[in-house]
Amino acid sequence: MTKPIQKIIARESILGEGLAIRRALPSRERRMIGAWCFLDHLGPVGSKQPLRVGSHPHIGLQTFTWMIEGEVLHRDSLGYEQVIRPGEVNLMTAGHGIAHTEDSLPDTARLHTAQLWIALPPEQVDRPPAFEHYATLPRWQQGSASFTLLVGELNGQQAPTQVYSPLLGVDIESAQAGDITLDLRADFEYGCFVLYGEATIDGQRVEANELVYMAPGREHLTIETTDNTRLLFIGGTPAPAVTMWWNFVAYDKEYIKEAQRAWEEGSERYPEVKGGEHRRIDAPPLPWK
Ligand code: MN
Repeated sequence: MTKPIQKIIARESILGEGLAIRRALPSRERRMIGAWCFLDHLGPVGSKQPLRVGSHPHIGLQTFTWMIEGEVLHRDSLGYEQVIRPGEVNLMTAGHGIAHTEDSLPDTARLHTAQLWIALPPEQVDRPPAFEHYATLPRWQQGSASFTLLVGELNGQQAPTQVYSPLLGVDIESAQAGDITLDLRADFEYGCFVLYGEATIDGQRVEANELVYMAPGREHLTIETTDNTRLLFIGGTPAPAVTMWWNFVAYDKEYIKEAQRAWEEGSERYPEVKGGEHRRIDAPPLPWK
């Protein structure tokens, strides 16, 4: 049976020191898909548009970076310094608080990446910060499509990524036009974001920088693609609504106010990022009293 779907067009936004990106989540139409609460698509851009994001804090979430082209250096207040390359995932768990910087390497000719945020569930929201780098992820072929499993389980495979709620994340690269079939979980809601190329889902055409939301209740899905299409397919069980402000995710505005005050006061909640000391990003004024 066909379930209702909803198309979301990612809006333009600016990241770091002036790089134009497209943001699909949160949007007016949809705040979250499972615990996925933020989806930025960056690039592809050439070397004249480097990524430069100075030191900034996070709480209550995990930042999830999936590299398609180029190389980015991550540095954080736990002392991790990690270059992420194509086919790799960086997963930073902010929990109680962390700060980080992100910069494309100077010899990066082309940069193409997706950064998503995962809201931590209420019982994990204040957990200690952590950082993990995943260089190897499950990969398989289905017809002319290459799958990389980024988060969760699919096709009898399990991704190693440490998350705290039922989630799925898959990269699907389709070299030739064809049908891709997926076995889904009826208790999950799903989103299919087109990184490049074009796909058709339930008769609806979806182009680059468009996200299709699918409500729970599906066990199978067929996606038709054109030649040279790449999709980011995400899902999860519907998660509790969060409050998001700047780089903070929480279940309580007071908690966000405290987190912001701590950043403004230079508190030990976010130790200094080595190499990022002189590039601290100021928080915009809070929208509430
Ligand atoms: Mn960040």
